[in-house]
Amino acid sequence: MRQTGHEISAERLGMPDTNGRFGEFGGRFVPEILMPAIAHLEDGVRRILPSDDFTQELQRELREWAGRPTALTLAPGLGRQWGAEVWLKREDLAHTGAHKINNAVGQVLLARRLQAKRIVAETGAGQHGVATAAACARAGLPCTVYMGSVDIRRQAPNVARMKMFGAEVIAVDSGDATLRAAIDEAMRDWVCNPVDTYYLLGSVVGPHPYPYLVRELQSVIGREARRQLLEISGALPDIAVACVGGGSNAIGLFHEFIADESVRLVGVEAGGTGSEPGEHAATLARGKPGVLHGCYSFLLQDGDGQVLETHSVSAGLDYPGVGPEHSMLRNNGRVEYITVSDREALQALGECCRSEGILPALESAHALAGAKRLAAEKPGAKILLCLSGRGDKDLDTLMKIADGDFSQ
Ligand SMILES: *Cc1c(COP(=O)(O)O)cnc(C)c1O
Repeated sequence: MRQTGHEISAERLGMPDTNGRFGEFGGRFVPEILMPAIAHLEDGVRRILPSDDFTQELQRELREWAGRPTALTLAPGLGRQWGAEVWLKREDLAHTGAHKINNAVGQVLLARRLQAKRIVAETGAGQHGVATAAACARAGLPCTVYMGSVDIRRQAPNVARMKMFGAEVIAVDSGDATLRAAIDEAMRDWVCNPVDTYYLLGSVVGPHPYPYLVRELQSVIGREARRQLLEISGALPDIAVACVGGGSNAIGLFHEFIADESVRLVGVEAGGTGSEPGEHAATLARGKPGVLHGCYSFLLQDGDGQVLETHSVSAGLDYPGVGPEHSMLRNNGRVEYITVSDREALQALGECCRSEGILPALESAHALAGAKRLAAEKPGAKILLCLSGRGDKDLDTLMKIADGDFSQ
């Protein structure tokens, strides 16, 4: 543990307790039939994840196949416009175009050591599906990806990429026919095949040990960024900011800075088009605790506990739940969560394109819009931002909106 001169509790450093709880959040709300499979996974996580052998294999794959470490880029154009010093952690440069690959590679290597015969995964925008399909192809494991039929229509290029990597893509028509329904179906598949199948979850959500496992695999983002920023600029950031869907790129950036009390940590949720139910996906800002997909955390639900529809221009943030560790960090105050609208995100995306020559994902554009607002509050601030992915996948959406002109 880093010495900070402050007492930091285990809870604040984010070790879940033996029941997989982050404070009051997290846990394991799954059908009895899955308990042996989850116990097997938890044992694997405990035994294999910290081993030198696994760590070395993972680091080699990340370096030689996935393109890590990713660059840390000073963004002088944005900095001038916003009156701040802006540093971008370039997860858009990782293989397959987003931070999702960090988790997919790690879990596929873990699955192989657990003797899994096939991988199932869910995907919303398709980025996690693509990363998983690529990692499975590399490891020689068959891969089945569940995807809502609405998302299949919205994200055709990613469906094609998954198929190129040899994955089977199964359309889900039930429920909302988007990410939430796809997770339901992937879990159903796992329940039916708990012995040979490895369920590769894409964010820091779901039953224990997933929120912990995915956090550990994504925290490479913050470890690299902290080291790079200290090397290049000699000091820590004033603010670290990231977008929050399920919360994996955000926790991946934040984790390494939790003990640095001087660093303000800010998560940015999708404010969509308004504050009414169905107009946004601002789970931590507007939700209440409840159980979804095997875990107790903040959740967008109505008075009867029915999960609400969500909206965001960004498919990857369009999810009514959020990781349990974020719920804890919200309640204990270590991380602040703000929301930005579709419009603010699109505007920040345009500014990043024109002044930095970088097309960010619509998800990452939310972090940019959040950073812009924080810079206005604290002129001259040194801001570290997780640019979680590249925006090529969003070009269809962007061209439909104002022909890609977001300068207004
Ligand atoms: C999936 C995705 C997200 C949202 O997921 P988190 O688990 O919250 O990180 C954000 N950015 C990009 C580029 C994504 O593909």
